Amino acid sequence: MANPAGTSPTGTGLTGKRALVLGGSRGIGAAIVERLTAEGAETTFTYAGSAAAAEALAEKTGAKTLQADSADKAAVDAVIAGLESLDILVVNAGVAALGDALEMDPAEVDRMIDINVRGPYHAAVEAARHMPAGGRIVIIGSVNGDRMPFAGGAAYALTKSAVQGMVRGLARDLGPRGITVNNVQPGPVDTDMNPADGPMKDQMHAFMAIRRHAEPSEVAGMVAYLVGPEAGIVTGAQHTIDGGFGA
Ligand code: NDP
Repeated sequence: MANPAGTSPTGTGLTGKRALVLGGSRGIGAAIVERLTAEGAETTFTYAGSAAAAEALAEKTGAKTLQADSADKAAVDAVIAGLESLDILVVNAGVAALGDALEMDPAEVDRMIDINVRGPYHAAVEAARHMPAGGRIVIIGSVNGDRMPFAGGAAYALTKSAVQGMVRGLARDLGPRGITVNNVQPGPVDTDMNPADGPMKDQMHAFMAIRRHAEPSEVAGMVAYLVGPEAGIVTGAQHTIDGGFGA
C-alpha cells in the first residue's frame, strides 16, 4: 500500500553515523532500517527468526544483519561489542502476547517482558558504554503504554508503560554524556503484528481521530527526526504517533 502521507524520504542527515536497529527484519523495524540507510547511516540490524527477510532487506539497503535474540543479553552485548563504534541505537524488537489474563501462559508473558522490557533496558545501557557525545537511543514503545482501551492487553501494556519510565530515567543517567533517550509510541501500524485488515481493525479505528493504520514508514520518519542532528535537546520524552488513539 502506498504511504498515505505521501512521503518519499531521502537525505544525508545521518552520513557518518553508525546505527544499530534491534529487530529490523520486518514491519516497523524494516522501515526504520530503510530510512536510516537512506539518510546515510551505516546500519546494522538484528532479527530473531526471519533470516530470509533479514537477508533480503540487507541486500536492498546495504545494511548488515545479524541474528540475535533480544531477550538474550549476552547475544545483544556481543553484537554491540562487534561494532567499531555506535552513534544510534533503535530498539524496535517487540512482541504482543494478548489474551485473557486468567488464561494466558505465564511463560509467554515472561518471554514478552524479557523481549519488550529487559531487552531494551540492557541494550540501551550497553550501547551507551560505546557511544560518544551526540549519541541517540530510541525505544519503540506503544500508545498502549498510555491507554489500554480493550481487554486482553494488560501484560502488553505493562511492558510498554515500563518503556516510559525507562526512558525518563535513562535520559537522566545519560544526559551528562550527551546522549538522548526517547520513546516512540505508535498506535495501530500495518505490520504482521497488526495487519490493517485484521480482525480488530474496526475496534481499533473506533478509538482514533484519523481512522486508519499508520504505515511503518510514518513511524520511521519520527525515529529519523529523533536520531538526527536537530533533536539534540529532545530527551526523556514519549513521542506518540497514533492517529489520536490515545487522545
Ligand atoms: P512485527 O511482528 O511485524 O515485527 C517484529 C520485529 O521484531 C521483527 O523484525 C522481529 O524479528 C523482531 N523481533 C521480535 N522478537 C525479537 C527478538 N526476540 N529478538 C530480535 N528481534 C525480534 O512487529 P511490528 O513491526 O508491528 O512492531 C515493532 C515494534 O512496534 C514492537 O515493539 C511493537 O510492540 C511496537 N508497536 C507495534 C504496533 C503495531 O500496531 N504494529 C503498535 C504499537 C507498537 P523476526 O522477523 O526475526 O521475528
